[in-house]
Amino acid sequence: MNKASIADYKYLEGTKVILREDFNVPINKNGVISDDKKIIEALPTINFLIERGAKVIIISHLGRPEGKVDPKFSLEPVVERLKELLDMPILFEKELFSEHMQKMLRTMKNGDVMVLENIRFFPEEEKNDEEFAKKLADLGDIYCDDAFGTSHRAHASIAGITKFIPSYCGLLMAKEVEVFSQLIENPQRPFVAILGGAKVSDKIKLISNLIEKVDCILIGGAMSYTFLAAEGYNVGNSKVDEAKIEYAKLLLEKAKNKKVKICLPIDHLVAKEFSFLADYDVCSSEHFPEDGIGMDIGPKTIRMFSKLISQAKTAYWNGPMGVFEYKRFSKGTRAVAKAMAENKNQMIVGGGDSASAVRNFGFENDFYFVSTGGGASLAMLEGSELPGLVNLKDKE
Ligand code: AMP
Repeated sequence: MNKASIADYKYLEGTKVILREDFNVPINKNGVISDDKKIIEALPTINFLIERGAKVIIISHLGRPEGKVDPKFSLEPVVERLKELLDMPILFEKELFSEHMQKMLRTMKNGDVMVLENIRFFPEEEKNDEEFAKKLADLGDIYCDDAFGTSHRAHASIAGITKFIPSYCGLLMAKEVEVFSQLIENPQRPFVAILGGAKVSDKIKLISNLIEKVDCILIGGAMSYTFLAAEGYNVGNSKVDEAKIEYAKLLLEKAKNKKVKICLPIDHLVAKEFSFLADYDVCSSEHFPEDGIGMDIGPKTIRMFSKLISQAKTAYWNGPMGVFEYKRFSKGTRAVAKAMAENKNQMIVGGGDSASAVRNFGFENDFYFVSTGGGASLAMLEGSELPGLVNLKDKE
């Protein structure tokens, strides 16, 4: 996949650019942004457009207001932070498509930035309503999508809009597409995938497709218990997706036939209760206690996974190896992050919890690539067509 970036568009001066950003930042009870990473990541494209004299109209969503105006999900705190970061005034339009907005659009000067209120206040957004998408497209001359993290969603301001207006990748999006295209089309080998986390149903389809592409899959986190159960191990009271055990058996069989190694944990940190203070024992997969809960991968598994990661030329990681929010059960997740940080080949972490773990452990700068998209990067690896990407212009 080779998509045109906004840097390939030569006539930005005076052009009204509708810029889709992912400003879906965590905001606490007092209305304060607790992590502004997503706003910081948006700055290169915004600054690029300002410097080239474009008139920048930013669209984003925040949270799940479910199609209703809800001040709790207003983008106002984001606009305030953006003002500080850009050190310039920003127009904030709360009344989309109003007379006031039309007037503001007419009087915008080159280099001005306007942010529209949360697009999910409109029920049409998540329905990918055509008429709504057309109305959004009419606000500008060209569209620029820099919200990779949401590009797997078929929503009006991500997918629908691209049918009505010339559409380009933002600078961040272009980098994401480049990295994942290379990963799919021409990975250096051995290619190791590391999967964890709890949502087995989200990731299990991916494993089937990954078996076609990678040399080895390391499975940790709650997900591993569904696979260990499929292999006939007792996993006590660990989190298991019962409905997926049969499918897990099929996947293990498929991997065997394709000679792809699936590595499951050989030992675990096992607690009696699901708590951050819970005492734990190290248990092997063969001697898992009936009343135990697997909270993290054990030391032997850490050594096995770290060794396999150190030998990889390409690795993709999505999902923590344990209940990493509790410090005593974060060792497995930290070890994977460390092993990847020490490998100077193409080590890629896909969004969400694993990306924030990499950042919190201080390894971010040692990685080849930290993606901003969890679900979106999984969808790309799966070989799915991303609704936000299909209609973006190809590079000439
Ligand atoms: P996901 O959204 O699928 O990436 O899942 C992330 C969540 O998986 C995190 O909140 C972890 O606490 C959770 N998790 C990882 N390992 C385990 C485990 N062994 N038991 C229960 N939850 C887990």
